[in-house]
Amino acid sequence: MSAPDSLVSRSLSSVWHPCTQMQWHADRSLPLLPISRAQGAWLYAPDGRRYLDGISSWWTNLFGHSHPHIVQALREQLDTLDHVMLAGFTHEPVVALSERLSALTGGHLGHAFYASDGASATEIALKMSLHYWRNLGQPDKNEFICFAGSYHGETVGALAVTDVPLFRDAYAPMVRAAHVLPSPAAGDADAARRALEEFLARHASRIAALIVEPRVQCAGGFAMHDASWLRELRALCDRYQVHLVADEIAVGCGRTGTFFACEQSLDERGEGWPDFICLSKGITGGTLPLSLVLSKPFVFDAFLDDTMARGFLHSHSYTGNPLACRAALATLDLFAELDILARNRAWADHFTRALAPLATHPAVGGFRNAGMIWAMDVDTAQPEFSRRFYREALARELLLRPIGRTLYFMPPYVLDDEQTALLAARTLDALDAALA
Ligand SMILES: *Cc1c(COP(=O)(O)O)cnc(C)c1O
Repeated sequence: MSAPDSLVSRSLSSVWHPCTQMQWHADRSLPLLPISRAQGAWLYAPDGRRYLDGISSWWTNLFGHSHPHIVQALREQLDTLDHVMLAGFTHEPVVALSERLSALTGGHLGHAFYASDGASATEIALKMSLHYWRNLGQPDKNEFICFAGSYHGETVGALAVTDVPLFRDAYAPMVRAAHVLPSPAAGDADAARRALEEFLARHASRIAALIVEPRVQCAGGFAMHDASWLRELRALCDRYQVHLVADEIAVGCGRTGTFFACEQSLDERGEGWPDFICLSKGITGGTLPLSLVLSKPFVFDAFLDDTMARGFLHSHSYTGNPLACRAALATLDLFAELDILARNRAWADHFTRALAPLATHPAVGGFRNAGMIWAMDVDTAQPEFSRRFYREALARELLLRPIGRTLYFMPPYVLDDEQTALLAARTLDALDAALA
């Protein structure tokens, strides 16, 4: 057995891979790829093959792999302070990162609370909201609203607001499901708004918060809505005294064109921020796990008291890890230094043009784009389409992983002209091969 083959078989007998039917790896209908190093947008396998990372390694890798600025920052941090518990201690990277994130909201939100994964950020925001109402003497406000097709993570609390039957149904007996309301993605924003308003008019006294993925519901199938929907949500949440939680785990960090997607819904005075923002995935440039929740000062203030029980209770061993915070600071440096939002706007126009043959392919419908996200629905009866396409893409040096029949791109922000052309042309080839 060659070395890569033996790594695959060792992995199959020792590792339980996520989001994977392991039998498909065992019977080789789904390849398991060993990766030994990565540089820029390329992943390299030990057998010399390479793959262009068209989905930023599950939407995390914004500036390419092993970006020298992030690597250098991590090296320095590792030599200085690897980790210290954050209860009773603080350090420069966590403070600097919290200050910079708050500044990015124009100071409207702050007091960053840290965890390591996105699902935990969702749960922290929900817990904070519920506990806020309890501290205010309104313990009945303890239920949540999410939208049809929403995805907010897969831990038990996060599953409560995740409307993806595949991920939720098996675990339904352990989940206290939230209220699922129609999303404007179904095509009728007016009907969605009316349904929400009617629901709030009757039940707001029991509702702590409403959680939304601003602009794009990613894992649920890349349904997009425009910013006016977020303005409606802000207005309704204000009117009915319900917190608005923006889950920016996928759409934040410039993915939809502004640093936070919810910025697109602010009024001329820069008002209209959500009460909570969850961030993760891209914030460390895809190097280390980190997630966080920003909240408005009125939330933070409601937890100040003489008793521990009224303080926020969520203890996580690695909260505010200095290495992860330093990687996030280096990532934010790159946003400023490379003027990345402006560069992305120009690149996105270019890429959309390059995708024209795909957008007009006879088997493709619903081509859509928001910032640095592109998605389209493939008209095929093949139940295996997603796996077939994935294999055909890999055979053409591309990492692309459709969700069902929805093919999408979430590329890193650093593709050059050659990589851009290659990604567009070979995706078209892979599609034809998968449909053949
Ligand atoms: C990925 C994702 C999560 C969960 O993040 P994990 O780090 O995978 O737990 C939550 N919300 C959204 C919108 C996501 O895309």
